[in-house]
Amino acid sequence: MLSINYLSIGYNRKGKNIVVQSDLNLLLNSGELVCLVGPNGSGKSTLLRTLAGLQQPLSGQIFIDDEDIFSLSARQKALRLAMVLTERIDIENTTVEQIVAMGMQPHTSWWGTISSSQKKKINDYLEFVNLQAFKDRFINKLSDGERQRAMIARALAQDTPHIFLDEPTAHLDLPNRIEIMLLLRHLAHSADKAILISTHELEIALQVADIIWLLSNELPVQIGTPAELIANGTFERVFNSENYSFIADNEYFIKLKK
Ligand code: ADP
Ligand code: MG
Repeated sequence: MLSINYLSIGYNRKGKNIVVQSDLNLLLNSGELVCLVGPNGSGKSTLLRTLAGLQQPLSGQIFIDDEDIFSLSARQKALRLAMVLTERIDIENTTVEQIVAMGMQPHTSWWGTISSSQKKKINDYLEFVNLQAFKDRFINKLSDGERQRAMIARALAQDTPHIFLDEPTAHLDLPNRIEIMLLLRHLAHSADKAILISTHELEIALQVADIIWLLSNELPVQIGTPAELIANGTFERVFNSENYSFIADNEYFIKLKK
């Protein structure tokens, strides 16, 4: 479980704090898929980096399984949370299997060659993301969707109760976007993991999220199920448009006005 108390996130420039979001009080439970939604620049990446302990908060606290994240060693942190970033990784001569094996590093004191029991596990992770046939392919020779699935398999190999993904669907076409989101939802529910995904694609978040955390400039962070945030008018206020409206009683949630 991840617990966020009165968190203020942002940057420090020339001794002055630049606040991106403040007063964040959030809970991420196991078995839950949470989508962190908001327009570009609203602070999604900043929040994920702060939650992963990659940057300091301006104030407030983050507890992961009741321990302050900034009191954990790198290895203790790596056993509790895996982070999948969007940036294209540019590694040559590294196979999908080797990338996934790297995810196991916090659990093994030694690495270099892959043992047969590790190979079996890696195969299971690749099967989960439907990438078994790509085991020996070089990572830089994959399509965006395949590479993203390999990075998810690597996060699975890290075998953590929490997984954070920053815009995992950013470079993907629609079928791949939906497939990856459904796969992550299945993972949260079937493996009882806490999964936090940032996305600026509201329509996809509406389809898959158990809970949405909505960041915006207009309102403090809004928390609720997709249906709740539609019913209470939050989306209408933050994403108001002449062209579409939000409806809570339709499985697609967004309706063109014309
Ligand atoms: P999002 O991921 O929702 O698009 P970001 O978290 O990347 O938003 O950015 C939130 C705000 O923080 C933006 O105004 C951005 O310009 C600013 N920002 C991002 N990175 C830095 C940085 N390294 N230093 C200063 N400001 C930054
Ligand atoms: Mg971002």
